Amino acid sequence: MVAQQQSRVLVTGGAGYIGSHTCLELINSGYQPVVLDNLCNSSAESLRRVAALCGVDAVPFQQGDIRDGALLDRLFEQYPIRSVMHFAGLKAVGESVAQPLAYYDNNVGGTLSLVQAMQRHGVQRLIFSSSATVYGDPCTVPIREDFPRSATNPYGRSKLMIEDMLMDLHQAGPDWQLALLRYFNPVGAHPSGRIGEDPRGIPNNLMPYIARVAVGWYEQLSVFGNDFPTPDGTGVRDYIHVVDLAKGHVRALAAFEAGTVPNLLAVNLGTGQGYSVLDMVQAFGEACGRPIPYQMVGRRAGDVASCFADPALAQQLLGWRAELGLSAMCRDSWNWQYANPTGYDR
Ligand code: NAD
Ligand code: UDP
Repeated sequence: MVAQQQSRVLVTGGAGYIGSHTCLELINSGYQPVVLDNLCNSSAESLRRVAALCGVDAVPFQQGDIRDGALLDRLFEQYPIRSVMHFAGLKAVGESVAQPLAYYDNNVGGTLSLVQAMQRHGVQRLIFSSSATVYGDPCTVPIREDFPRSATNPYGRSKLMIEDMLMDLHQAGPDWQLALLRYFNPVGAHPSGRIGEDPRGIPNNLMPYIARVAVGWYEQLSVFGNDFPTPDGTGVRDYIHVVDLAKGHVRALAAFEAGTVPNLLAVNLGTGQGYSVLDMVQAFGEACGRPIPYQMVGRRAGDVASCFADPALAQQLLGWRAELGLSAMCRDSWNWQYANPTGYDR
């Protein structure tokens, strides 16, 4: 039975880092999200805070797994869902090497289960969290969407397999609207400091690690390699503010609704600007008002020297480009970490 009149956007993984920021932008743009998340890497507190920030009673939330087809059926019956934003997935590269089957099961199996449920319920619009990892070790930078794709670990391969699955689906049914949004390095937090990134255990990624050094959890950052062919020898990445990223999703959804873009869309979401690890250390130190201690250590296995986007296609097709620069990324990340030193306290 349909419970609400206005159509809904199903947001899988909506309690997580990028999903929660996107729920906020969806609500502020007049959409009504309903979240499905098994909370394996998040807390429902993020959604309570999103609701408070948006001035709504609650963000409808169902705790559960995207691999549970019967649960998906109930959600599609309960709500008038017209579109799906699919963030749910496991994302730790090292863990994916140790536990590849968990990654294929959760990421690939989970997406298959989701898309099958969409098909059962006649929902044909999906915006998927892909990643710059699908470009493997790029021959040159900046990276365009037509560059060759490859994978260097099971996490990346799970994203590639999902992209291929969705491309096949579009081939068989051109009415499906499918966006493969290839994120570069999401960082930062909502400027309120109420929602942000709250990784379990020791962070794998640079920015949350620096933030925890700044707040005193860890003594110093280990910089993985200073002998890369980059200006200062440390790795270069395209860091994108999570609020910009979230807005990119809303743009993609609106473009599908308006029919102004092709039904199969593979688009980079990045800034086009590369920063080194030492650039990040410097900028974060300025944001928090004290230097970030660090030591140089050897390279991390599998790291590429330099990875940044050519963001022109997103501008051309979606009219979207990143607006927030490095100082806003560090300021907002620090705001969040300082105000919530132990995250959401799961
Ligand atoms: P996150 O871990 O904060 O969010 C993912 C959410 O999905 C979590 O809330 C988790 O509980 C949920 N989830 C996982 N498996 C699930 C399942 N089987 N059923 C229901 N819920 C499930 O991660 P994030 O950084 O917000 O990433 C969101 C998506 O973006 C992921 O697919 C990730 O691979 C992709 N991505 C992230 C980055 C990044 O650096 N953060 C970069 C590129 C792509
Ligand atoms: N990095 C680092 N120390 C850390 C974590 C990351 O020096 O504790 C470096 C890493 O080698 C890379 C950059 O920071 O050059 C970004 O790493 P992250 O894991 O955040 O993103 P990815 O490598 O997946 O793009």
